[in-house]
Amino acid sequence: MPHTGELDLIRSIRARAATPPGALRLGIGDDCAVLRPLANHDILVTTDFSLEGRHFRRDWHPAASAGHRCLARGLSDLAAMGAKPIAAFLSLALPAGTLRKAAGRQWVEGFIDGLLGLAKATGTPLAGGDTSTAPGDHILADIVLLGSAPRGKELHRSTAYPGDALYVTGILGGAAAELEALSNHPKRFSRSSPTDNHPHLYPQPRLAIGQRLRTLATAAIDISDGLSTDLAHLCEESNVGAIIDAATLPRIEAEHLALHGGEDYELLFTAKASTKLPKRIGGIPITHIGTITKNRAILISHSGNETPLVPAGWEHQL
Ligand code: ADP
Ligand code: MG
Repeated sequence: MPHTGELDLIRSIRARAATPPGALRLGIGDDCAVLRPLANHDILVTTDFSLEGRHFRRDWHPAASAGHRCLARGLSDLAAMGAKPIAAFLSLALPAGTLRKAAGRQWVEGFIDGLLGLAKATGTPLAGGDTSTAPGDHILADIVLLGSAPRGKELHRSTAYPGDALYVTGILGGAAAELEALSNHPKRFSRSSPTDNHPHLYPQPRLAIGQRLRTLATAAIDISDGLSTDLAHLCEESNVGAIIDAATLPRIEAEHLALHGGEDYELLFTAKASTKLPKRIGGIPITHIGTITKNRAILISHSGNETPLVPAGWEHQL
């Protein structure tokens, strides 16, 4: 159904937003959503902007990819803390006139399709949001995600300990390599689909792994800004250092992309040296890449030659 106004758009989103049974008692349609979390669980909350020109470009990203990525970023934060998603809220601001043009309508529909596709795949109901006219000519989206974890059992960045082993999930650098390819040939992936392997366009948040890690890991963080930058965050919060063995990095791209390329949305975590970890969780490889040290330095070793690993991933310049 074509929608040209806010109410039509919300009606169409509501019709498509499935509400699987779970903590969500009441979704889109009233003044508030109502949640009833399990007893003995804590609620975890995260919010992420997806701003046109900053996080996606309409001339590079298929609309479905922008919607998928909008939700994936928040889900990856939940995964990093071992939480299970319980509801998502989407605030969307569209430039005046967007829904009056066929291309604009199609874009918004594609964005919602991409977002709801990942929502369905991960059991995350879209439970509400807000819709408004944007002040400028950029699309602005903000996602709020609520998750839950057994009381006091969520994972933190701040609890790595000297002697812990350092691990990473999946393969690193793929998202940065795909973004580079996209910037060279913007139309190249216009027919891509979330079921293909597209680490930049359709990242898969590691929710099942995060929940499994609650009993295996000592600390965790998701790699949104690049391994070097997120490892520095983990070390800073835990007041420790680390040494990485470059030869062990799981990658098919150049080493600098694996170390510094952002948006892989894999998990970086630590576990006691005595903890035995599976080689794979849910089919995703788990790779031992280094060790946590007492010395605050972060080092990388190439054939035994240790040099400082300078954080060179993503940081917003404000
Ligand atoms: P109110 O004026 O009371 O905030 P709205 O008209 O903004 O009500 O929203 C009506 C319902 O639609 C609410 O349940 C709200 O959460 C939901 N909603 C509004 N915008 C969105 C959106 N972009 N995505 C999902 N739900 C939305
Ligand atoms: Mg509102």
